[in-house]
Amino acid sequence: MRLTLLFFFILMCVHTNAQRVCSGIKYANTNTLKEIRNQSNAVSRDTLRDEVISIPVVFHVLYNNAIQNISDAQILSQLQILNDDFRRANADAVNTPAVFQRFAADTKIKFCIAKSDELGRPTNGIIRKSTHRTVFSIDDAMKFNASGGDNAWDCTRYLNIWVCNLGASNLGYATQPGDPIDVDGVVIQYNALGKIGNLQPNFNKGRTATHEVAHWLGLKHLWGDNDCGDDHIFDTPQQSTYNNGCPNFPHMSTCSPNGNGDMFMNFMDYSNDACMNLFTNGQRNAMRSLFALNGPRNSFLNSTACDSITSSGASIPTEITPSEPTFISKSSVRIFPNPVQQDLNIIALNGYELKGKRIMIFTVTGIKVISTTLFSDQSKINLSNLSSGVYFLKIEGDTDQKSHKIIKL
Ligand SMILES: [Zn+2]
Repeated sequence: MRLTLLFFFILMCVHTNAQRVCSGIKYANTNTLKEIRNQSNAVSRDTLRDEVISIPVVFHVLYNNAIQNISDAQILSQLQILNDDFRRANADAVNTPAVFQRFAADTKIKFCIAKSDELGRPTNGIIRKSTHRTVFSIDDAMKFNASGGDNAWDCTRYLNIWVCNLGASNLGYATQPGDPIDVDGVVIQYNALGKIGNLQPNFNKGRTATHEVAHWLGLKHLWGDNDCGDDHIFDTPQQSTYNNGCPNFPHMSTCSPNGNGDMFMNFMDYSNDACMNLFTNGQRNAMRSLFALNGPRNSFLNSTACDSITSSGASIPTEITPSEPTFISKSSVRIFPNPVQQDLNIIALNGYELKGKRIMIFTVTGIKVISTTLFSDQSKINLSNLSSGVYFLKIEGDTDQKSHKIIKL
C-alpha cells in the first residue's frame, strides 16, 4: 500500500509459527495530533541538545481471566526494559557486533509511569478493567469503553499502552505520529509484555514493546517493508527483508552493502527478543525530531504527568468497573461507538439476526446517504465520508425510521 494525503499506516506485528510478521493497515486522517496541537494554548519550546525527554506512560490492562490480569511487577519490568533499551543501558548491549558498536545510540528518551491522571489526580499509571471480550483483534476495540476496552488518556501528554489478549498469533501493534488521537498508542499481547510472568519463549524480554514504541516514535522496519527497501535512516544498512529467530553474524542478504550484512540485532528487525540489542544514531535522531518545535510529539516537553508534586485530590481507582456499552433503543442490536468518528459497529444481541439485513443511514432531513447489506451479525460500517452531524440509522424491518440516532464527529 502507498501513503496518500488522506491515509496513514499503522504497523501491526503478528507472531505466527514462532516468528514476527508485520503488515500495514490504514486510518482515515481525522482529528490528528497536529490539529489538536494547533488548538492548544500551551507555550511550545524546542528540545535542548542532549536533553533527556520524559514520556509518561499509562498501561490499560484489559482482562477476561486472571491470567490476563498480569501483575504490577510484570508491567514495571516492561517499563524498565523500555528505559534500558532506549538509553542503551541494556545488559545485552555487549552482544552488538564490534563493527556495529559505533552506530549504537543512547536515544536520551526515558519512560516513567504516570503519577497523575488527566485531571491531575494521583495514579499508579496502571488501569485494570475486566472485559467481556475473550480476544481482541487489531481493530482498536481495546481503545474504547464502548467496545470492551478502555478509552485513551490524552495522547499529547501520555503514551497509552493497552495490554490485552490479541489471540495466539498477534504480538502487538502501534500507531504512528499523525494517526487519529483516540487510538494513538501501542497494544501489546499480555504474554509478550515485560520479562516476568508466563511469557512466550521467544518474546520474553520485552522487545515487542520496544519495537512498537519505536514505531509510535515514527521508526520504520529496517527493510522499509519492501525488498531491499528504505527505512530513511542513514546508518542502518540496507537489507532485503526481515530476519526471524536468531541469525548468526554476519548474515548477508542480496542487497547487503558490505560484508557486515544485516543489522538483525536492531530493535526494528523481527529477530527474537534475546537477539535484539540496539537503536542507531540515525534512529535516535529520527525519534528525537518528533519532539522538536512543531514536531508531532512536541507537547510531551510540557507534560508533568510523571511528577507526583503536580497531582492532587483523591487517587483514582486502579480497578475500573466497565461501563455498559451504549445501547441505542432496541435491545436486539448494539451500535457503537456513538458518537462515532469512523467505523460504526453493529452487533446482533439476544438471538437477533443481522446477517443479510439491509442498513440505511439518513440525514435529519431524510436523505439516504448510506445503504448496505450486512454479511455478518457483527459488522462495521465506515462513516468516514460523512460530514459531522446527526444521522438516523434504519435496519431493514424497523418500523420507525428514526429508531437509531447516530452522531458523527
Ligand atoms: Zn513492526
